[in-house]
Amino acid sequence: MITSVLPTYNRAPLTFVKGEGAWLIEADGRRFLDLGAGIAVNALGHAHPALTQALTDQAGALWHTSNLYHIPQQQALADKLVDATFADTVFFTNSGTEACELAVKMARKYWYDKGRPDKVDIITFSGSFHGRSSAGIAAAGSEKMTKGFGPLLPGFTHLAFGDHDAIAPAITDQTAAILIEPVQGEGGIIPVPDQCLKGLRDLCDEKGILLILDEVQCGVGRTGKLFAHEWAGIEPDIMMVAKGIGGGFPLGAVLATEDAASGMTAGTHGSTYGGNPLGCAVGCAVLDIVSDAAFLAEVNRKAGRLRQKLEGLIAAHPDVFEKVRGAGLMLGIKCKATCGDVVSAGYAHNVITVPAADNTVRLLPPLNITDEEIGEAITRLDAAAQAVAA
Ligand SMILES: *Cc1c(COP(=O)(O)O)cnc(C)c1O
Repeated sequence: MITSVLPTYNRAPLTFVKGEGAWLIEADGRRFLDLGAGIAVNALGHAHPALTQALTDQAGALWHTSNLYHIPQQQALADKLVDATFADTVFFTNSGTEACELAVKMARKYWYDKGRPDKVDIITFSGSFHGRSSAGIAAAGSEKMTKGFGPLLPGFTHLAFGDHDAIAPAITDQTAAILIEPVQGEGGIIPVPDQCLKGLRDLCDEKGILLILDEVQCGVGRTGKLFAHEWAGIEPDIMMVAKGIGGGFPLGAVLATEDAASGMTAGTHGSTYGGNPLGCAVGCAVLDIVSDAAFLAEVNRKAGRLRQKLEGLIAAHPDVFEKVRGAGLMLGIKCKATCGDVVSAGYAHNVITVPAADNTVRLLPPLNITDEEIGEAITRLDAAAQAVAA
């Protein structure tokens, strides 16, 4: 008999009832160190006082009005994002995949309004993940996500990740944009090197097409810059954001330049919930903390510390682990043992990690994890690795 919750997830045998900072707590009081942060969502850990305050204050004032009216919290968050980034304008969604939908629509409408309705094609890369909507699965194109779901949204060209020479020849008269994650998340924490992102930007400029970055997982301070592309010194035309921006409240966004957004006039797009007062009040509180230079400096310092300790951990368990890769506090340990076994052994030793593709264990701790907790993380991962090796 089917379960009352649609059984699309293989869930771990864990049930959390409370969160405190970097800790998740089960009903019996068992405490887990959370190095997954709800897949890079709880950017400031659990029950951060500033976020709880922002949410409860807003909950007592006004939950929802719809986008038929002005929403001051949405305006405030859009202003903050425009101030802090390349973007001139922002549309708010409730998730990453909704941001993907709009990014695709925006790129196509851009060319349509320029008298080029034939320019609809978007180039994407193997191993990418852009969400589970029809545009998202068509963009990523993996058999796992698309099989059985009927005709896919057309207009995506899939290239092998890392095959530089394939990109320029794949750009045709019909190409509207290139879409890429600066650091692949689900694909196994695989960063695009800075010079490759620069090369992509140059190529898009040369061919006159748009560059869309999916920073749903790698954005919002995760790599030690507010957005990951800043490391490469480039700017996209359109960027998808979600996960960390809401700190645990469902919130996403599409950021764009004025030019890239020029097709999106009144009536061309909408969302009932997108940009609602609750989500945007929390988003403002998250961004105020994460966009602070001193906060980001701490993310970088802690990232260096964690990475150094992970190198030691890997050296101590050469049969279990192969190498660490990633950027900032978005780290992946490529395993020699089965990554699912490492994650399960972590559960037994009260530490939460997240599996990814390419046999990789993801570490996406809250950005405000403490030095002491980093030490604790290594102790627990060491115990997990010993259990896997035994
Ligand atoms: C999680 C993710 C998405 C999809 O976000 P949802 O909120 O699950 O729809 C899209 N792109 C990337 C890079 C992601 O990590």
